[in-house]
Amino acid sequence: MATCTFREARSIVLDRVLSGRRLERECVPLEQVHGRVLAGIIAADRDYPPCARSIRDGFAVRAADLPGAVEVIGEVRAGGSFSGTVEAGQCVEIMTGAPLPAGADAVVMVEHARREGYRVFTDREPMPGEFVNPQGAESRKGQPLLGGGTLVDFAQLALLAQTGHTSISVYRKPRVAILSTGDEVIPVTEAPTETQVRNSNAWSLAAQVARAGGLPEILPVAADNPEETRRLILEGLERDLLLLSGGVSAGKYDYVEPVMAELEAEFYFDRVLIQPGQPLVFGRARDRFFFGLPGNPASTMVTFELFARGAVELLGGREAPELRMPVMRLTEPFRHKTGLTRFLPARMSEGGTAVTPVKWQGSSDVAALARANAFLVAEAQRESWEAGEMIGVLLP
Ligand code: AMP
Ligand code: MG
Repeated sequence: MATCTFREARSIVLDRVLSGRRLERECVPLEQVHGRVLAGIIAADRDYPPCARSIRDGFAVRAADLPGAVEVIGEVRAGGSFSGTVEAGQCVEIMTGAPLPAGADAVVMVEHARREGYRVFTDREPMPGEFVNPQGAESRKGQPLLGGGTLVDFAQLALLAQTGHTSISVYRKPRVAILSTGDEVIPVTEAPTETQVRNSNAWSLAAQVARAGGLPEILPVAADNPEETRRLILEGLERDLLLLSGGVSAGKYDYVEPVMAELEAEFYFDRVLIQPGQPLVFGRARDRFFFGLPGNPASTMVTFELFARGAVELLGGREAPELRMPVMRLTEPFRHKTGLTRFLPARMSEGGTAVTPVKWQGSSDVAALARANAFLVAEAQRESWEAGEMIGVLLP
């Protein structure tokens, strides 16, 4: 079946999910919209600012009168208004956010003026419009401000609040089934024998799904037999996406691919030239996408970040998922065998300028993964890097 490079595999996933997804909408109150994805355009409900406003504390003046002295005829504060008109030789004391009085066309900052009773002196020569935000300068009534597919974070939340959106149409979060496989895998609530491992993958995957905007649903562990694997896969395929961990290698008891084939799944690839995570399956069955992620904890984490994360984001209505993969200065020499792109646990320094590989014992070393905060990206074609050279880093 199909083997791909990391870039090819990623574009297959994004293209397939983008063209195959069916998005549903729901309305949520402002209180619940943080972290959600907008399903429609958000437009300005009025001009911003709705009238010309001062952006400084000072004096609203007629620019042509200055430099020199002008007479203070009143005051206007934020939330208030000035009913008169500023005539030649006059000004109005004004606070930040207050509407510019009729007749005035600029603001002189209080720091640039000297007041004596009802007279104000300045040696400044203000430009017309200085320190004034004209009506509609930020946005016009009806103007689209945010598009569908936008993730709502704090600034977008502020904009929704500012424009009076209290009930917002967002995309329904995708339900993502997490199905761990393996005779040796037991729930964390049970005491393991020497040959058993606790199901840590379900926990890392659930957190990764939630970070990507999905709703994780952990299914019971499937034992390594075709009947149970099939039964739980069918249950998982009732969700929007199915993530399997384990059971996709070439072992005698790896049943994910045979069971999927029996369910007439389409397989888009089943091997990617990366490490960890070479045996990685992506396909579609019963009208749902699924990933068969290799079961070693590092493989599961890395392949989720590289491929499944983008799928979850797209299923949640996001437009163009991107990997965060900056380059950083390597603090020590690094070499690897060419042919596979490697993603290895690493620690980036505060500020994200330098990166150091974390010592580890291979893909099962969860403790090392927990000490890491990034993955070093060793390109497939390059063999070695010196200390001080730049290298790619995948940020989860
Ligand atoms: P597999 O991909 O099924 O061949 O599993 C590879 C390795 O990952 C084995 O050593 C498993 O014990 C381990 N493993 C598989 N599933 C899990 C899981 N859910 N949690 C932790 N380790 C696992
Ligand atoms: Mg297994």
